[in-house]
Amino acid sequence: MKYLLTGLVLSTMLITVQAKDFNADNAYKKLQKHYVLSDKLNKFSLSYNSSRSGKHQSYDYNTTKYTTTTSLLELDLSNELFYQHSRSEYPGEFVFEFKHFKNDKTALDYDVNGVINGKRVAKLSDEDVSHFMGLGTNIIDFLAVKALFSNTITSAAGKANKIPRSDLAISYNEISGDITIRHQQDKSTIDYNFNGNSLNLSSIHNNSKATHTVFEQYKRGPEREFASAISIYKKGKLAQQFNLKELKLIDKIEQQHQQVPMGYGSLIEKSSQELSLTKIATNLYLVTTASAGRNVLVNVQGNDLIIFGAPISDLKSQKTITLLESEFPRKKIKYVYVTHAHSDHIRGLRAYAKHGATILADIHSIEAIKTFPLFEQDIALFKFNEIKHLSTVADATFHIPGNSHAKGQSIVYFADAKIIYEGDFLEIPFDNTIPSQMPMATKTFIKYVRKHKLEYARIVGHHRNNDIKPAIVKAYSAKHMGMM
Ligand SMILES: [Zn+2]
Repeated sequence: MKYLLTGLVLSTMLITVQAKDFNADNAYKKLQKHYVLSDKLNKFSLSYNSSRSGKHQSYDYNTTKYTTTTSLLELDLSNELFYQHSRSEYPGEFVFEFKHFKNDKTALDYDVNGVINGKRVAKLSDEDVSHFMGLGTNIIDFLAVKALFSNTITSAAGKANKIPRSDLAISYNEISGDITIRHQQDKSTIDYNFNGNSLNLSSIHNNSKATHTVFEQYKRGPEREFASAISIYKKGKLAQQFNLKELKLIDKIEQQHQQVPMGYGSLIEKSSQELSLTKIATNLYLVTTASAGRNVLVNVQGNDLIIFGAPISDLKSQKTITLLESEFPRKKIKYVYVTHAHSDHIRGLRAYAKHGATILADIHSIEAIKTFPLFEQDIALFKFNEIKHLSTVADATFHIPGNSHAKGQSIVYFADAKIIYEGDFLEIPFDNTIPSQMPMATKTFIKYVRKHKLEYARIVGHHRNNDIKPAIVKAYSAKHMGMM
């Protein structure tokens, strides 16, 4: 006991001595020396995996699944060029695979398996370019702290990338032994925490974004060590994890990674976000934008309006509500239907709930909506009516085919109009080229429609293509299911 006390006193004294001896300028110099970067690190390739947690992107909201993305990034920071290839998998075997690049003339992306954009090519905006150029800064420790220690004032693009020493406050934590560099600007405070022994970055805390990023599992790379496990917490909850697999120095980005391959065609035009309302059948209207990112159907029955699809924010829903109020001033939105409870399909429901509409969904989706964190404060406003397999509302018949994308996911059949409305069962790009991959959920959908002889002239997808013709579905299934 006596020795234990002596030990405690001694260790307390030691910390006091260290803290007293702590010299901010010396600590800064030590870290700066540790993080001095060779010019070779301006050009590298990085392969990594990332995963995002999401109950409301899982097959079943009760089991949190992680969406995983595999990526290869090539960065040329000296010339502001990049290439990124990413492949993400979603429930039901949906695979979204894109290649993005910036060469010295242009910045573009294209869809590898053609599920979303087909053979069309999209121009990247300035924000997209900054996003890709900044990817390394978000996930590679030595780039994350580059601005703190760099001697260069501006980058090739002329952006300031050095924070002056006078803007930094440096402190020492007696308990953890961490050294913290604080950068305060207006209302934002960013704390960079470094391990006092290894001098490696251990975490970054950004108070205005409410994010905490942890850098762990340092491993040997070219020129220096780097953290291979990165976890991003938002408001205290784990939001995203990165596993950095291989970092290699390169001389330049490969030529073939700086161009669109043969077979790709027209450029996707930037289109307006203005909503339009078009009559597509008796008592049936399509509300969409020119790019048709999200398609909503409206079925008019007497004085009631029934809405199909409630994407992706209150703002988008409110725009639809405002449009319907001006087009149908004497009618009332009675119901709003959602195909399944994935976050991008339900995030706009609150605007309808506040408007007094009752939500139509299968029982599993209703339960999932009730647990959606965004609705926690207002859930008492939500009214639900459960739809069952083959139940009907106005001109719509609901079908629940069973599938692997989302439990309970349903489709709508308008028998008189010969129109099917679906979300995340079938994706055909706008240019009607046939994707090189077919998800399991799509196979289930096509088999179901055939087996139950749902005769249709048009399929309206919730995402993008809102006029999918039977001939295209036939060609798609002939290619991947051997069905004619
Ligand atoms: Zn979905």
